[in-house]
Amino acid sequence: MTLARSTGRDTESMRIFECEECGRRYLLGLPAQDQSAVCRRCGATLLSVPANALQRALALTLTGLVLIVIANTLPLMSMTIAGRHQQASLITGDIALYNDGLWPLALLVQFTTVIAPALKLGSIAYVLIGVMLPRPPPGLVRIFGWLERLRPWSMIEVYLLGVFVAYVKLIDLATIEVGIACYALGLLMLVMVLIDRVLSAELVWRAMEERGLVRTPPAAGGPLLLCETCGLLSSAAKGHADCPRCGARLHFRKPNSIARAWALVLTAMILYLPANIFPVMTVISFGRGEPDTILSGVKELFYAGMWPLALLVFFASITVPILKILGLIFLLISTSRGSRWRLRDRTLLYRIVESIGRWSMIDIFMLSILAGLVQLGSIATIRPGVGALSFAAVVVITMFAAAAFDPRLMWDAAGENR
Ligand SMILES: [Zn+2]
Ligand SMILES: [Zn+2]
Repeated sequence: MTLARSTGRDTESMRIFECEECGRRYLLGLPAQDQSAVCRRCGATLLSVPANALQRALALTLTGLVLIVIANTLPLMSMTIAGRHQQASLITGDIALYNDGLWPLALLVQFTTVIAPALKLGSIAYVLIGVMLPRPPPGLVRIFGWLERLRPWSMIEVYLLGVFVAYVKLIDLATIEVGIACYALGLLMLVMVLIDRVLSAELVWRAMEERGLVRTPPAAGGPLLLCETCGLLSSAAKGHADCPRCGARLHFRKPNSIARAWALVLTAMILYLPANIFPVMTVISFGRGEPDTILSGVKELFYAGMWPLALLVFFASITVPILKILGLIFLLISTSRGSRWRLRDRTLLYRIVESIGRWSMIDIFMLSILAGLVQLGSIATIRPGVGALSFAAVVVITMFAAAAFDPRLMWDAAGENR
C-alpha cells in the first residue's frame, strides 16, 4: 500500500482516506476552512471543508422545505386557448400519466420531483438539528447513510428545464401564464445546488463522532476496506465486515461490478430501440395530430424555428443516452483488457457518464407537464405514448449501470493499486 503524504492542519486527526474513483490512499488531516483535498492521481475530490458548513446547510435546508411546500401546492402554469382555461400544478402531470395507464412513469416522475427532494431535505434537517440537540433523537446514523443513495434521484433542476421546454413548445399554441410554483421551483433548484456544495458528509460524520453517536477506530493492521456509504477506511476484522462508523456492509470493490454493469448496459441497449421506435406523445390540435417519436419531436422543434431548443432536446434525449451506453461499454472493455491507456481521462469519462445521465429526463418531465396541462378535448390534447416508458427505463437503467461500475477496477486492472 502506498501512502501519499499531505499537509493537514493537525497531525492528531490524520486519517487514511481512499480515493473513491481510483483507489489511491492518502494520509490526510482535515483541510483548512474553504479548502479541499483533491486526488493527485485522478483529480477526484477527496475531502472538502466549507466554512460553517453545517450551519449554512441547515439554513438552506429549512428554506428549501418552505419552497417545496409552495412548489407542490400552488399552480405551476396555466393555459388559455380558444376561450378555454386550464391550470396545471406539479401533481396534475402525474395524474395524467396515471390515467393513461403509464403508472410506472407517473411513479418515477412523482419520486424524482417530489418524494426524493422532500426526503432529502427532511432527512438533512433531521440529522443537522439532531446532532445539535443535547439528547440526539434516534436513527441519525442510518438516515444520513441513506441520504447518499438518494442523492442522484432528486431531479428538481432537470424538471425545471422540462418546464422551460414545455413552456416554449406551448407558447405558439396558446396563451401561457407562469405560476408561483414555477418561481418556487427555480429558487429550490438554487438552494439544492448550494446544499450539495456546502454540506460536506465527512464533517457531519465527524460531528456525530464528537457526540458519541458513532465510533471510529483508527484504521490499522490487516486489509483496509473503504465504506461506500460514509467514506471511512477501516480494518477488515475477521468474521465481520460492517463499517464501524455507519454499519454499512463493506466490500473491497463493488461486488460483481463488471457483470452487473454489463447486464444493465445490455438491457438499456435493448430498450433503447422501442424508446425510439414507439411514439412518446401525440399532440392533437383542432382535431388533427400525429404521434411523435423522440426524433420526430426534435425535428418538429427544428422546423418550427426553435433550433436552440431542438438542440437541447437532441442533446439530452439522443446524445446523452448513446454517450452513456457507449462510454460504459468502452470503460468495461478497457478494464477487462487491463488497459493502461489514459487512466486519468477514463476516470474523467466515468465521472461525466455518472453525472449527465439524469439530464435525459427532460423529455419525460416535459411530457408529464404537457399531458397534465393540455387536456382540452378536440381543441388541444397531448397524450403520452408508450415509447416514453421504454425511454424512462433506459435513463434509469443506465443510471444504475453507472452506479454498478467501480472505477477503481480500471486502476486495479492496470496494476496501479498493488
Ligand atoms: Zn483518485
Ligand atoms: Zn461507513
